Amino acid sequence: MKSDASVHASERTRRRLVTLNAAIRDCRRCHAAGFLDEIESVPIARDPEPDAPAPRILLVGQAPGLRATITDRPFAGAAGNKLRDWFEQGGIAREDFWRKIHFAAVTRCYPGRLPGAKGDRVPSPPEQALCRPWLDDLTAVVRPRVVLLVGLLAVRTFLGPVKSLAAVVGTSTIRDGVLYLPLPHPSGVSRWLNEPANVAAVGRAMGLLREAVEAHRL
Ligand code: SF4
Repeated sequence: MKSDASVHASERTRRRLVTLNAAIRDCRRCHAAGFLDEIESVPIARDPEPDAPAPRILLVGQAPGLRATITDRPFAGAAGNKLRDWFEQGGIAREDFWRKIHFAAVTRCYPGRLPGAKGDRVPSPPEQALCRPWLDDLTAVVRPRVVLLVGLLAVRTFLGPVKSLAAVVGTSTIRDGVLYLPLPHPSGVSRWLNEPANVAAVGRAMGLLREAVEAHRL
């Protein structure tokens, strides 16, 4: 059972998170700088679930996809189902997916399609720099125990110039008491998960997540 002090701390965090999310949703820096058109410049920042304590697990992806922009919720489709499968192995029940994890990204607006290709455009370094203060503020408010880094851009944003996903998925880094876990993007478009060795690496990552969830009762 949680103490009164921890319940109050959680409520304070929740209120600060709601305030920060409102400021993020108002952001139009990339539109003002000419990087995004007005339609694309819609930041995705969902508030914590109303009946859940403030989450201590932060997930950072690259940027929201088009579906996230339409539904106002990241990982709402098949990729989200794959993440639920993984996180269930990591000790997070499917029904706690939105309750225990706060979803963020290196940039918070849909960046648009990559011209002539299937995937979305990777946000440029200037866009990443414009959005970085939101990520820093979010980290300061949530004070996560675990940060799930989904995709190479998120991994490099937090861990520096790692060589490849294969070099880091299945490993963890602890900094200032925070556990960073690199993961691939769960999208079926990615061929990375066709390799059995890479699937095994995700399994190891989920073992590390489960240990942290159990140790810290996340
Ligand atoms: S990507 Fe980030 S900095 Fe750019 S407009 Fe969206 S929220 Fe603002």
